[in-house]
Amino acid sequence: MTYNFSNFFHSHSDEMLSDFIEQYTPYMSIAEDNLEEMSELIEYYKKVLHTFQGSFTEEEILDYFKKIAKIKVSDDIPYIATINEILGLKNILLSKMIDDNTTTNILSLFKLFQIINNQIAYTYFVEHINKLLSINNIRINSMSDLIDKDIIGHYEAHLVWLTDLAKCVRDDKTDSFPELDDVACNFGKWLKDDAKKLISNNSKYKAIVKLHSNLHLFGKKIYTQIGKNDYHLMITYLEKCELISLSIGTELALIDNILINKRVTKDALTGALNRQSLKSIFESQYELAQATNNPFILAMCDLDYFKNINDTYGHVAGDYMLKLFVDTIKEHLRNSDIIIRYGGEEFIIMLPAINKEKAFSVLEKIRISFQSKELVYQDFKISTTVSIGMMEINTNEFYQHTFLDDYINIVDQKLYLAKKSGRNRTEMR
Ligand code: GH3
Ligand code: MG
Ligand code: MG
Repeated sequence: MTYNFSNFFHSHSDEMLSDFIEQYTPYMSIAEDNLEEMSELIEYYKKVLHTFQGSFTEEEILDYFKKIAKIKVSDDIPYIATINEILGLKNILLSKMIDDNTTTNILSLFKLFQIINNQIAYTYFVEHINKLLSINNIRINSMSDLIDKDIIGHYEAHLVWLTDLAKCVRDDKTDSFPELDDVACNFGKWLKDDAKKLISNNSKYKAIVKLHSNLHLFGKKIYTQIGKNDYHLMITYLEKCELISLSIGTELALIDNILINKRVTKDALTGALNRQSLKSIFESQYELAQATNNPFILAMCDLDYFKNINDTYGHVAGDYMLKLFVDTIKEHLRNSDIIIRYGGEEFIIMLPAINKEKAFSVLEKIRISFQSKELVYQDFKISTTVSIGMMEINTNEFYQHTFLDDYINIVDQKLYLAKKSGRNRTEMR
């Protein structure tokens, strides 16, 4: 099929491009991080608009959109954001047509964009399935690396379920479809039985049951779409399934941490976890972060001028101060967060499933709250402050698979910076 809109698009190309970028830049969210890909993307859009100035074939224009979609997929831009961006382009083209009082070709522009949308959906679909299969494989592998699986081990079954589902979708087949009934699948059986006893928080339990039944609902929707070539619907359902799976994983990982906190031996003085378990806990946080697609936070805290307290009021007062500090931390953390006594007056905090900005504000609350606390000891009111170094550990980033010591060194450097910059502050990488 050949199109020719040249009678009204000949002079508008640059103007339309700048209108488009101005209005739709928010969706071009890769721009801030990746200038090279942004300019590549703009080049393709320029070519698209240039193409409209002469006569062109369907294949020609689809080829550009295929490349645009590939850049978007590789940058993890959600399908819906890309579709909105294309819709924006269509609207700008249409409004120029209407401004020019030429409405004769509007229908063929609509038809062309229908084909373009389907092309975008198909490109997303193919890339998405491949990416999903490989990422899910990594997630399943990180699950099998976990030594202590407790609750989270059951999540593995649902990652396998998602992989089986994605394979059926990829191959357009229904014969080896995974279990669709949410009470009949292995995870569902476990939820109904053992999980009910294990998960003491009833609203958490209900939230997981709801997530799980929603996951199966979308599984059923996908089943009915097999063989229909509606890539738009398929991609939307698949994205939904993946998101719900990850949410289930995150909920279970948090519950798993609550159990870790109950089980691991504690430091008798402060109630923080013992340093012996640092390595295995860190590794489990890392694997869980990878399996649930979440970053986690590592922080190191060191009390300021602590030696002065010992020297002035004695070691017993120092001991009470350490206890007061851990109690203060606990006031601000979730019961799935981890506090480990690393050294004398040094503590490590790990916060799962939280981003850098939120974690920073949690740590700042701890710092600010601690500076206003007073330890009443004999006739004295003693207070001190804390310095904190923190970083976000994102398992997808380039420095993955480095060792615990490397991360400890990073937060230690940040802590050193906090000390050097005057103490009583939080420094973040
Ligand atoms: P800075 O602000 O640079 O951190 O100064 P600081 O005095 O806190 O640093 P330093 O590391 O020199 O002092 C830590 C002190 O903590 C030294 C040690 O006597 C004391 N300490 C270590 N473990 C314990 C403990 O279990 N109880 C008490 N009371 N003190 C301890
Ligand atoms: Mg110290
Ligand atoms: Mg200190």
